[in-house]
Amino acid sequence: MAEDKKLTFFSKNKSECPICEAPFYREDLLSGGGRMIAGALTRDLRRLYEPSKKFGEIFPLVYTIIVCPRCYYAAFPQDFFSPPDAARLSLEEQTERREKSIEPLFGPLDFKEPRTLKEGAAAYFLAIMCYDFFTKDESPTIKQAVCSLRAAWTFNDLYARLPDDNYDYLSLNFYRKACFFYAQAVEKEQKGTEGIGAMKNLGPDLEKNYGYDGVLYLYGLLEYLIGSKKDRQKRAGNLSRAKTMVAKIFGMGKASKNKPAVLLDRAKDLYADIAKELERLGGGMEGPDEPSAE
Ligand SMILES: [Zn+2]
Repeated sequence: MAEDKKLTFFSKNKSECPICEAPFYREDLLSGGGRMIAGALTRDLRRLYEPSKKFGEIFPLVYTIIVCPRCYYAAFPQDFFSPPDAARLSLEEQTERREKSIEPLFGPLDFKEPRTLKEGAAAYFLAIMCYDFFTKDESPTIKQAVCSLRAAWTFNDLYARLPDDNYDYLSLNFYRKACFFYAQAVEKEQKGTEGIGAMKNLGPDLEKNYGYDGVLYLYGLLEYLIGSKKDRQKRAGNLSRAKTMVAKIFGMGKASKNKPAVLLDRAKDLYADIAKELERLGGGMEGPDEPSAE
């Protein structure tokens, strides 16, 4: 590939894995020069990019997690080189489990080579596993939430290119994980058992940080779209909680003029959708439960 068509580069500085001490070189995205042409913003706040004539398709999300090419320890750059002392042994012991869990999903991967969508999705998958061992001071739950959502997006991209490989199933699976982790992160934050403060950029995508409002919005949206519909009463309870949280984004008494208009509009739409769904659920309370589709 010609030098001026490059999308990424490998750092000249050697990194060292804090778990297995393997040396490696990080791959980073080159920016500018018309590489990134912003397209639409999806309902779940993902920024899509148009392929450029010169550089082709670009997937910035593929590069945000550092992965050790030897032991598959993975984390965001802010955490990678300083895992909590209490986690080191567990992270080392889990090496084989990490290797074994990605193999059936992706086949052989090589994190020393330029990344593809597969390494990108695998990186989030591995990071979700590794954050299990971080302490509450590093806000691991919200990091797992963001990783799950980005994994769902990346699996979706894989599905668009390899429709026969079940990546749509994996995408849905990771949307469910995102739904779970966002709900957990909000609950822990409210109870004061684990804050979200150690995740500086809450994204969820790279171009913009929608902050805590974005977290509340995604929690509500995922509960509405992905949350379990099996038990009608439980569904109503979950949606009712989600509705209260979404209302906080544009709620009274809070200055909303500094908030991004796009988020306020979407939060209001979501609030209306959830209210409608709750009405539907409440309206049929006396009748028999709908037959479960699952
Ligand atoms: Zn390692």
